[in-house]
Amino acid sequence: MMELAIVGGGPAGLSLAYFLRGSKINTTVYEGLSDVGLKPCAWGVMKGIEDYLPIPKEAIINEIKGFRIYLDGKLLYDIKGREILGYIVNKPKFLRILGEKVDLRLNSKVVEKDGKILVNDKEIEADKVIYANGHYSFKGDYAIPAIQYITDYKIDPEIVEMYFFSDLLGYGWVFPEEDGSKIGIGGYADVNFLKERLKSLVKGKIKAFQGAKVADYGVIEDRLSNGNYIGEALGTVYAVTGEGIRPSIISAKIMADSLLNNKDFSKEFKKSKLYWSLQIHAKVIRDSKKKGTQSIKGLERVLLKTPPELVLKFALGDFTKIDLLKIFGRMII
Ligand SMILES: Cc1cc2nc3c(=O)[nH]c(=O)nc-3n(C[C@H](O)[C@H](O)[C@H](O)COP(=O)(O)OP(=O)(O)OC[C@H]3O[C@@H](n4cnc5c(N)ncnc54)[C@H](O)[C@@H]3O)c2cc1C
Repeated sequence: MMELAIVGGGPAGLSLAYFLRGSKINTTVYEGLSDVGLKPCAWGVMKGIEDYLPIPKEAIINEIKGFRIYLDGKLLYDIKGREILGYIVNKPKFLRILGEKVDLRLNSKVVEKDGKILVNDKEIEADKVIYANGHYSFKGDYAIPAIQYITDYKIDPEIVEMYFFSDLLGYGWVFPEEDGSKIGIGGYADVNFLKERLKSLVKGKIKAFQGAKVADYGVIEDRLSNGNYIGEALGTVYAVTGEGIRPSIISAKIMADSLLNNKDFSKEFKKSKLYWSLQIHAKVIRDSKKKGTQSIKGLERVLLKTPPELVLKFALGDFTKIDLLKIFGRMII
């Protein structure tokens, strides 16, 4: 039996252990904190996740059936249909339910010392270690700050709102939750600028303020060739929207299948639509950074002239080359 140690009990680490349960690979998930789901997050999980992992009913707060997109405060799209576009999940509850099905060790921070991998000063015995420790693992410039308020402001529970600004390479959001909403912003700017900009979005009585980082770099190639990283630690966040839960879980599924079938994870991942779509999102952001605009100028044009179905497909990473040509023209491919 192969012993696999997984560092990090977020969506990527826990789902990897879940996908491998009952197999020839024995997993242990080490989570540094005292509970799962403590990392600040707006808890939106987009559709397609069901193909990989059932989300338990008791962890679903709302089904998302519509979206609004704003540019500089002006409403550009207001779409609501009958189709489910995703879910607002109680992420701690969702992760706890996953954690009950696997060997999860809380309060177990992994550290590396003198080439050894230690948990609470004891060396761990494992044939292989997979890193699913999210943005905490970054030393380089792979992530942007993201902050949010939890308020009692009630919005339509089936709608998510995304905000873009012509002077910020980033995004804001208002996502419904159990007793109000999460109102946040992430971007290629310092936290003071983000806080200032967030003032224009905040409504209702503030219950809490949180902050963390979110990857905006796309897949980190040397980590991919290393073959020991999944989830946000590998860069699996859609850079234009900040969506990281679903892609992290998909990366875990690709890792689980590669391990079970003795395949090279890096090659399997590169063949996936996830890899390609993540890299396109990252390219849109990188191109804006290169131009030094620090803004979404390219995207702004796109938002102003693209039909809503295509905007949604792009946001969800569910696009084809033809869609891309329609949205961006030749420049993107
Ligand atoms: C403010 C904010 C809002 C967001 N909103 C959304 C959203 O609505 N929808 C969405 O899809 N994405 C959202 N994201 C992104 C999303 O939260 C992440 O991309 C996603 O959680 C990544 O999953 P992961 O398992 O790869 O990493 P993480 O969720 O970061 O999990 C990593 C885990 O590893 C643990 N860990 C770290 N180092 C160690 C160590 N040395 N030893 C042991 N454990 C360790 C951490 O405590 C953590 O629990 C948001 C991000 C931020 C910052």
